[in-house]
Amino acid sequence: MRRKLAAGNWKMNGSLSAMAEVQALCEAHPEPKVDMLLCPPATLIWPMASMRGEHPLAVGAQDCHPEDKGAHTGDIAAPMLREAGATAVIVGHSERRADHGESSETVRAKAEAAHRAGLLAVVCVGETLEEREAGRALEVVGEQLAASLPPGSTGETVVVAYEPVWAIGTGKVAGTEEIGEMHGFLREALRKSHPEAADAIRLLYGGSVKGSNAAEIFAVPDVDGALVGGASLTAEQFSPIVTALE
Ligand code: PEP
Repeated sequence: MRRKLAAGNWKMNGSLSAMAEVQALCEAHPEPKVDMLLCPPATLIWPMASMRGEHPLAVGAQDCHPEDKGAHTGDIAAPMLREAGATAVIVGHSERRADHGESSETVRAKAEAAHRAGLLAVVCVGETLEEREAGRALEVVGEQLAASLPPGSTGETVVVAYEPVWAIGTGKVAGTEEIGEMHGFLREALRKSHPEAADAIRLLYGGSVKGSNAAEIFAVPDVDGALVGGASLTAEQFSPIVTALE
């Protein structure tokens, strides 16, 4: 009942020449059986949306400002992203929480801005290694979820991405037991906080997902897809992940 989602986060990588990768990806999956989303840097949203043409590949941003317009030099508002061709936006990625000191309350305001603009918000949560080793992973992620997710969130407006910070870009993947425990916990937490939407909200895993480990991760209950960083940059690496999800 939940449609699977293969999402890619290009972070601060890519240039116009990388549109060849988008074309190759679309050609490799002319009629995908799962949702596909790529989130390039903001400067590439419009070129990517143009390159994808009629293909159902969705294009997303990596962040948005909580307000719809105003005196915020260097920031981009959700309606602007929408106008550029985005239909989704990542909010609360751990790199933004760490590099820009974003709190979960800010993340929620950004998710609300995304909702107002008609963008799907991909809300990221995840614990650090220190927090996991202290036995606090569930508590930390539970608190992030409760504070980051807007009250009226539905399966249409929100996707939750569980990304253990220690697994991002490190080549260290969380074990399937750890992923299963966290995703089961998140589903239960959603049943309490958003009872009507809980079964419709997709839960993605993120952290060093590759073609070689994707099938094993996707077999874990309550994993509805992946948010992929490094391995989303080329069609050669991202395509097997899409295929594993199909
Ligand atoms: C990410 O940054 O969202 C991510 C999961 O990165 P990677 O796949 O490179 O670990």
